[in-house]
Amino acid sequence: MAIQRPKGTQDLLPGVVEQWQDLEEQIRKICKEYGYQEIRTPIFEATELFQRGVGETTDIVNKEMYTFLDKGERSITLRPEGTASVCRAYVENKLHGGPQPVKLYYIGPMFRYERPQSGRFRQFHQFGVEVLGVDKPMVDAEVITLVWDLYSRLGLKGLEVHVNSVGCPSCRPEHKKKLQEFLAPRQEQLCKDCQSRFEKNPLRILDCKNPTCQEITQGAPTTLDTLCEECAEHFKELQSLLSAAEVVYKVNPRLVRGLDYYRKTAFEVLVEDIGAQSAICGGGRYDGLVQEVGGPPTPGIGFAMGMERVLAARKLAQGEQEGEGKDYLLLVALGDQAQREGFAIVSRLRKQGMPAGIDLLGRSLKAQLKAADRVQAHYAAILGEEELHKGIIILRDLRLGEQVELPLQDFEEVVWKRYKEDGN
Ligand code: ATP
Ligand code: MG
Repeated sequence: MAIQRPKGTQDLLPGVVEQWQDLEEQIRKICKEYGYQEIRTPIFEATELFQRGVGETTDIVNKEMYTFLDKGERSITLRPEGTASVCRAYVENKLHGGPQPVKLYYIGPMFRYERPQSGRFRQFHQFGVEVLGVDKPMVDAEVITLVWDLYSRLGLKGLEVHVNSVGCPSCRPEHKKKLQEFLAPRQEQLCKDCQSRFEKNPLRILDCKNPTCQEITQGAPTTLDTLCEECAEHFKELQSLLSAAEVVYKVNPRLVRGLDYYRKTAFEVLVEDIGAQSAICGGGRYDGLVQEVGGPPTPGIGFAMGMERVLAARKLAQGEQEGEGKDYLLLVALGDQAQREGFAIVSRLRKQGMPAGIDLLGRSLKAQLKAADRVQAHYAAILGEEELHKGIIILRDLRLGEQVELPLQDFEEVVWKRYKEDGN
């Protein structure tokens, strides 16, 4: 039987890859404009990094990690997310000793053992940013504005930005107590996961997708009810900065990122109609994570964006996009000598940067012209033995259906001129 790719993975073929390249290009451009620099960390890390950095009570660490022993008996995990690695790299490379804040971004594959479905894969890709070393609300506003700006450049529609504050170690204990009191009478009816969250991390129960849990948590006390003065002030300032940057957002008091080191700001971007999975971006402040992986106390904030879901949303907003990367000119050469000459011409054009092609199969004129149509070439240049003998070449404009005969020696200059005039 033919070998198939692992469940939950994808082959990105020509035609689709161009959409990825375009998205990556736009990401790199916006990051440059906002002053974020790229970081590339290993695809695999010591398992302990994620156990400590993502947290034992999360779905990721509990059930979604690709973990294995390498030949040296070390426990290794394919990275399920990027933040823990960035924080590790920040500490390991002593970036905290340099100028602050450190503004980083990454793009790359992540791995989670999940049930594959629309918008949910086992190998998927994230674009994420992390800002380390500042705890001012303006940083929170900057990263959310970057997301908003990117989405409007991509032409996405039907977006909702949800923001919340989950408090800090000084105000969360009061909320935890109130929430436990509220949930206690119906504790037994919670799903199994939430029963185990009840003692350790009841905040995450607000985030559970189980319908019964959602029903039970209706009207539960939210972190916004118990914010301390500092957190309340931070949240207020964030909102006025977002308004100043004309970001349209909603306060969603049920939005949580439930780890101990998550503080203050949490946010998520949802998009309608891309199927069951509507979250395209999630982020928040994590003052405490750097310390968790062995560094000095350092505030941090970031987000991660699911690139497959962003592309799905983009397709929905704009319809199918034609892939690029096609030849501008196809040289149709007939006969051995013309092929040799044609190959030399095409090589020169390519060397100077024009996407040009030549038939590699020795096909007939008709078949070659058909191929030129298929790749949507702008021009076909026809060179047979007879033309070669006369020192001419036929240049056919495939869009207009017109053709001219040119002296062979002028050909490259004419083609270049047209290529430039076409805005290349
Ligand atoms: P979800 O609720 O969809 O499981 P999550 O809370 O696990 O999301 P994060 O860990 O915050 O997601 O990751 C950030 C983004 O990465 C998500 O908003 C989503 O767009 C994307 N993402 C997460 N898991 C997957 C996956 N298995 N396949 C594709 N995209 C994913
Ligand atoms: Mg998930």
